[in-house]
Amino acid sequence: MSSDIKKVTCLIIGSGPAGYTAAVYAARANMNPVLYTGKEPGGQLMITTDVENYPGYPDGIMGPQMMEDFKKQAERFGTEVNYEIITKVDLTGPVHKAWTESGEEFHADSIVIATGASAKWLGLESEQKFANKGVSACAVCDGFFYRGQEVAVVGGGDTAAEEALYLSKLCPKVHLLVRRDELRASKIMQERVLKTENILVHWNTETEEVLGGELVEGVRVFNNKTDERTVLPVTGFFVAIGHKPNTDIFKGWVDMDDVGYIKTIPGTSKTNAEGVFASGDAQDNVYRQAVTAAGTGCMAALDAERYLTEKGVI
Ligand code: NAP
Repeated sequence: MSSDIKKVTCLIIGSGPAGYTAAVYAARANMNPVLYTGKEPGGQLMITTDVENYPGYPDGIMGPQMMEDFKKQAERFGTEVNYEIITKVDLTGPVHKAWTESGEEFHADSIVIATGASAKWLGLESEQKFANKGVSACAVCDGFFYRGQEVAVVGGGDTAAEEALYLSKLCPKVHLLVRRDELRASKIMQERVLKTENILVHWNTETEEVLGGELVEGVRVFNNKTDERTVLPVTGFFVAIGHKPNTDIFKGWVDMDDVGYIKTIPGTSKTNAEGVFASGDAQDNVYRQAVTAAGTGCMAALDAERYLTEKGVI
């Protein structure tokens, strides 16, 4: 082995709650974890403001602060945190290979995948301008700030249906903006949405612009059949058109579903590749919460520890 190849017992890829929790557990188990943050250090919580549903913070905490705390805790036990991207892997095993963007090569006895997922956006300039100022991709995270206010949700899948139903319990009126004349959501979710009185479904409706000064004050939509334009007086605009798991580099190496979510053996974090464990949103399209990501990060480190012990590596 060439001397510039770095040998690692546990390589953690990703730096959201899953990655850092895996790092805390791995470091405390003497696995000397090396963590690569990826191109969005801290993950999706870096674009959130107040996090009020993570247990242990009775007064809530700002997302970026929380991620800084996660990182400090991982480093306290000796995790090596690197602000770089892993761009390629070879998981033929038993020693797994990985390469950083700058070309550094690793040989890892175990890998924890914690690369997360990214919300899809509509791609409007105004949507970006009001990010965190009324535009959100997570009703469970941010809905509470809009209680008593009129809001809109974009999308027609299960996520949009779930977000609209969640918001309908907090807000007097929820506009659901659906680009076709039918919902993609499961039948049961469709029924729930359609019979909820304060959810108003706008069929064949697309968003043209999010409006406002400092904060969102409305949204201009158009009917793609009639071309009619309307301004809805909403203060919250929730985009729920799906997520994309950040798993491209693992394609062909570990089993995934059609969208790219990594498949794990139920009840574990094990992938089909020996010594490779998956955690957080990269393998979860259902719960997608910081606390569930942290939980599966813990599982991944414990599964990796058992694997390394069985192999006699630690
Ligand atoms: P999805 O099923 O892919 O639905 C995305 C929705 O957004 C579709 O209605 C799509 O419209 C719409 N959309 C996409 N791009 C758009 C754009 N640019 N403008 C306007 N609308 C746009 O995504 P998802 O709802 O996030 O669900 C993903 C997977 O997770 C699904 O398998 C779902 O069943 C599952 N899920 C399950 C649960 C649950 O079981 N509780 C909860 C959430 C999600 P079109 O229909 O016209 O394509």
